[in-house]
Amino acid sequence: MRVDEETHQCEAGATKCGRPAPYGYVCYQCIDDTQARLDEVTPEQRLDLDLIARGEARPANRNKEGGGGGIERRDALNIAVWQLARDIGIEWPRMLPTLHRDPDAAKILHRIHQGVSTAHRLTEAQDESTHTDDYLQWRMSQIRVMRAADLSAWLHHYLGLRVSAARIRKWRERGLIEPRIKSPKGGYSWYHPVDVLRTLDSMEREPAA
Ligand SMILES: [Zn+2]
Repeated sequence: MRVDEETHQCEAGATKCGRPAPYGYVCYQCIDDTQARLDEVTPEQRLDLDLIARGEARPANRNKEGGGGGIERRDALNIAVWQLARDIGIEWPRMLPTLHRDPDAAKILHRIHQGVSTAHRLTEAQDESTHTDDYLQWRMSQIRVMRAADLSAWLHHYLGLRVSAARIRKWRERGLIEPRIKSPKGGYSWYHPVDVLRTLDSMEREPAA
């Protein structure tokens, strides 16, 4: 991007920051502010997010529901939270130094701010529902369907869960899970992690099933 007579203005923020941004799509101040927001998330909070994702801790606002005693649902939330911990710890700090040159910079800055707010909500007691959280909704939409074998490896790698491909196929035979995509001649099927987690959850509630 070259410096024109009419200097390019920073596109960050809902009402547009508007400060001069001659070398990119957003200004350095907005980048610095976002880095400061990221730095607010403590190592302890990142560890908490990781534990929540792995089902070893409960989000702060779930503690309030109290009682019940049942099995905590390992649902879509876990995957999105795992990704959030990774975004905050690895992905976003790596993106920020060159982000001003990305045409999507304003959108990404917005997402980082959302993500940091989500991290605070999950790890500190607040009343808002995490399920309607913008960041988590967006992150969930990014998770793709996988074939049983890939999904099995993925669940183990990211969530520490052992669900074999054979088990997923057995569930399908018994009508307990439906693939999201099937190849026309019945060769391959693609499953969404959320469906597998839900099925696994119902198995644990009814061990005989
Ligand atoms: Zn700006």
